[in-house]
Amino acid sequence: MTQSYQIIDHEYDVVVVGAGGAGLRATFGMAEKGLKTACISKVFPTRSHTVAAQGGISAALGNMGEDDWRFHFYDTIKGSDWLGDQDAIEYMCKEAIPAIIELEHYGVPFSRTPEGKIYQRAFGGMTTHYGKGTAQRTCAAADRTGHAILHTLYQQALKHKAEFFIEYIALDLIMGDEGECLGVMAWNLLDGTIHRFRGHQTVLATGGYGRAYFSCTSAHTCTGDGNAMAARAGIPLQDMEFVQFHPTGIYGAGCLITEGVRGEGGYLTNSAGERFMERYAPSAKDLASRDVVSRSMTVEIREGRGVGEHKDHIHLNLMHLDPDIIHSRLPGIAESARVFAGVDVTREPIPVLPTVHYNMGGVPTNVHTEVLNPTASDPNRVVPGLMAIGEAACVSVHGANRLGSNSLLDLVVFGRAAAIRAAEIVTPGAKHKKAGGDNGARALERFDRYRNARGGTPTSQLRLSLQKSMQNHAAVFRTGETLAEGCTLVQNAFAGLSHIGVTDRSMVFNTDLVETLELDNLMYQAIATIEGARNRTESRGAHAREDYPDRDDQNWLKHTVTWVDDKGKATIGYRPVTLTTLTDEVEPVPPKARVY
Ligand SMILES: Cc1cc2nc3c(=O)[nH]c(=O)nc-3n(C[C@H](O)[C@H](O)[C@H](O)COP(=O)(O)OP(=O)(O)OC[C@H]3O[C@@H](n4cnc5c(N)ncnc54)[C@H](O)[C@@H]3O)c2cc1C
Repeated sequence: MTQSYQIIDHEYDVVVVGAGGAGLRATFGMAEKGLKTACISKVFPTRSHTVAAQGGISAALGNMGEDDWRFHFYDTIKGSDWLGDQDAIEYMCKEAIPAIIELEHYGVPFSRTPEGKIYQRAFGGMTTHYGKGTAQRTCAAADRTGHAILHTLYQQALKHKAEFFIEYIALDLIMGDEGECLGVMAWNLLDGTIHRFRGHQTVLATGGYGRAYFSCTSAHTCTGDGNAMAARAGIPLQDMEFVQFHPTGIYGAGCLITEGVRGEGGYLTNSAGERFMERYAPSAKDLASRDVVSRSMTVEIREGRGVGEHKDHIHLNLMHLDPDIIHSRLPGIAESARVFAGVDVTREPIPVLPTVHYNMGGVPTNVHTEVLNPTASDPNRVVPGLMAIGEAACVSVHGANRLGSNSLLDLVVFGRAAAIRAAEIVTPGAKHKKAGGDNGARALERFDRYRNARGGTPTSQLRLSLQKSMQNHAAVFRTGETLAEGCTLVQNAFAGLSHIGVTDRSMVFNTDLVETLELDNLMYQAIATIEGARNRTESRGAHAREDYPDRDDQNWLKHTVTWVDDKGKATIGYRPVTLTTLTDEVEPVPPKARVY
């Protein structure tokens, strides 16, 4: 029986869940526009995963050579393997330029050129003149860009008097009788109290779900809680089969070595010391798109040209770079390589392996960041009261493969877009309508169920089995057979939730319960990911099917939308990809072959 919990009520104009780059940009933008804004975060804001972003943030400023946002637009569409929505990509690439200037004015300490302009480095897939030249487009604060941006955004949020609820775990959305979102339920870890937040808009900015996999570059907190909350509210997840493997995670440890290393001239070699990327991507070489580089590395290893005792990884070389460049532009990398691989980068290569890094999929939204719950007759049906931004959202600017340095950009551009939209549709101080629907009961039932779960399976054991299943069956290369096996394993893991045992019943700082709720969240996303991958019988971007090696625009130039119910059953539908632009300032790019 559900224990009755005392609930503390709050009323805000807007409630933002998440205090990473996306959540903070939305939070202070909304507060700045006179909306009473709450920001809920399970970790201290400046500990959100955004803090770990190294390489930089893209914008066609042209500080280091010719550039144009239209080139950026083209590169992003090509990078997305044509699955990205071109209206959203246009908006992001054009807004990138004022967005970076704005960040500079807010105080982000960007690295500088000798003339004092913002320093920009080369990154994978970023070109000039529609694929002809190499662009230097990625603005960097050494190799700590995310750290610099996140701290600056948090200061702005404090300055604009947004109210923070830190170490509050958002549990589930409160949905009304007409399918609208009314707010969110949360549990305060510090004192064990339960809170009901009402908001005219609730914004999911809860980040990605890298932790569905065994080896990933993301923080332990990256469990995609907002995606799962949306799923439990009957909202589908979009394009979840597209999971980005970053070419250079440190072998064994998983921590990231930024693509900025290759942008500064670093390169990959196999056991013969060969710069093999020249064979796979003759013009872009080591700076081809991430999916291309990850696949090439995997092929080298499979064909016996991996390095090390087990020939199971690849070398990343920066010994030839000027040590001054390493110390000024890549200091964090030198440190990570020393701590996690025992390597002095000025003298030895870094052992690396493709590692799960980013989720292109998430909660579907339109270009105004409003969440969509499509029907057969209306693929763009809006869920009133709900927005999603950042890695949790699928707007979709990254399509089937994200270009490096486009995510930090996505956070600030669409965080700001959410604030603009909220200011248009929310009247400050408007009265909240009487809560219909479950008024939070659904969230508490789930919370109580796990708090009292006394089964024989420890959370860590079930999590490991989920993570290994995803790692082995939804990897860089996929086949119908491995995916079908993987679907069964992940379904079994989902069913295993009913045998889970939580040892601690405490309401205060109960991390066992937190991890169990997070595992439950991961399950919904793992199912959408692997079922979507099995269903999509083509290869596009990060989704590489060995049994269907070609892209198939005839049948598959469409977004997957997957509803996952509370038994783990997946129902798959589709939404069209937007192949038109918002304005006539740029021509749409029709699908063509993608070569680097
Ligand atoms: C190691 C690494 C390096 C990267 N480098 C780059 C780079 O150089 N350039 C680039 O463009 N991209 C980079 N990326 C990708 C980019 O950093 C992320 O996609 C982006 O930071 C995600 O930001 P976010 O605001 O969506 O979410 P996050 O920063 O992950 O924040 C999520 C927020 O949600 C909160 N939250 C989650 N669940 C709950 C809950 N249940 N209740 C309450 N709060 C909750 C968390 O507390 C947190 O505040 C990198 C990613 C990694 C992992």
